[in-house]
Amino acid sequence: MDFAEPEEHRALRAAVADIAAKFGPRYYAEHATARTPCTELWQALGQAGFIGVNVPEAYGGGGGGLTELALVCEEIAAAGTPLLLLLVSAAISAGMIAEFGTEEQRQAWLPGLASGAVKVVFAITEPDAGSNTLRISTTAAKDGGDWILTGTKYYISGVDEAQALLVVARTGQDERGGRLSLFIVPADAPGLGKHLLPVDLLLPERQFTLHFDGVRVGAGALVGEEGEGFRQVFHGLNPERVTGAALAIGVARYALKTAARYATERTVWSEPIGAHQGVSHPLAKAKIETELAALMVRQAAWQHDHGVPAGESSNMAKYAAAEAALAALDAAIQAHGGNGLASEYGLIPYWGLARLLRIAPVNREMILNYVAQHSLGLPRSY
Ligand SMILES: Cc1cc2nc3c(=O)[nH]c(=O)nc-3n(C[C@H](O)[C@H](O)[C@H](O)COP(=O)(O)OP(=O)(O)OC[C@H]3O[C@@H](n4cnc5c(N)ncnc54)[C@H](O)[C@@H]3O)c2cc1C
Repeated sequence: MDFAEPEEHRALRAAVADIAAKFGPRYYAEHATARTPCTELWQALGQAGFIGVNVPEAYGGGGGGLTELALVCEEIAAAGTPLLLLLVSAAISAGMIAEFGTEEQRQAWLPGLASGAVKVVFAITEPDAGSNTLRISTTAAKDGGDWILTGTKYYISGVDEAQALLVVARTGQDERGGRLSLFIVPADAPGLGKHLLPVDLLLPERQFTLHFDGVRVGAGALVGEEGEGFRQVFHGLNPERVTGAALAIGVARYALKTAARYATERTVWSEPIGAHQGVSHPLAKAKIETELAALMVRQAAWQHDHGVPAGESSNMAKYAAAEAALAALDAAIQAHGGNGLASEYGLIPYWGLARLLRIAPVNREMILNYVAQHSLGLPRSY
């Protein structure tokens, strides 16, 4: 077992960190507060080939895998500029189109996704289904050669920035429940209503409720085979979990670095506050949790890239990384005292993101359910 990071991965980390550092936490905080997309950063990363690092070379990408995309996610977050849409547009949408799309779909979407010129967001969550994907009620019905989509999705991130949506819809019923299929739907399709869903997180990415009111798409919108959506989604959700975990690791690293610097410089008694174990131990504990979670992220990404079942490790990585990020942010905010809440110190937007990562892309409790059932063989509780 070789734990040394290959030279090309260290070079990738350094190059991504270099670009992200040119934007930095102030840039991120301004966009998060104004809720405007970090377009310039996205474009700079795209031009350097990092948004499409996991897209096959034949379609203009970097030819890497989830391992490389996770490194990109981690490094941008560690520089204080986490981008949530990498989890959906790069990890899920580009990944699923490359894996399951037709040749026509690959040629139509992957080059733009690789360069960062195009974003395809992901729409699965519904008001009445939530964590229970099999209960989704958005339908896609055949009409001649076309498909007609009807239903509602909510909490869909980045719809205002996207050219298209990868939509999970029911095309029938099977023994598991809803028979699912995936469709690529243009963001400006007639009949698609988009309504801002305000959240009290400080995030550059905005969330939307979507109403599909008889949205008509051609036969070419179906990704892969009809009825294959369940398998496709399960394959695609591991990358979302792993990149979500990598983002959380980066956020934790950023928080710990910021807090360590502050606690070394700030003196209100005779010693810097970092000399007090009440300050240093929570930071040290979060550092340990972060490093442990980072190991699981690497394992999960490696398994996915090598065709080894990665469900368990992806879930564990996402759980551990979100918890580590929250612990790091909480300790960092506490170490900053009142300044931890000040706009000038900019920690609260990252706390909100870390808090979100405990809920999405999959919530902590559903991961515990997975581990209880699949890793420990305990009876299913729901
Ligand atoms: C800012 C933001 C961005 C998002 N972006 C997207 C996006 O781009 N695309 C998309 O499709 N979705 C997106 N989501 C939705 C997100 O994936 C869901 O919110 C998440 O999966 C949880 O689903 P839910 O909110 O319906 O919670 P519910 O399913 O209603 O669950 C609520 C809570 O109940 C508990 N719970 C539920 N079921 C169980 C169980 N069986 N056992 C134990 N506990 C349980 C959990 O604690 C859970 O947090 C986003 C959400 C947010 C807040």
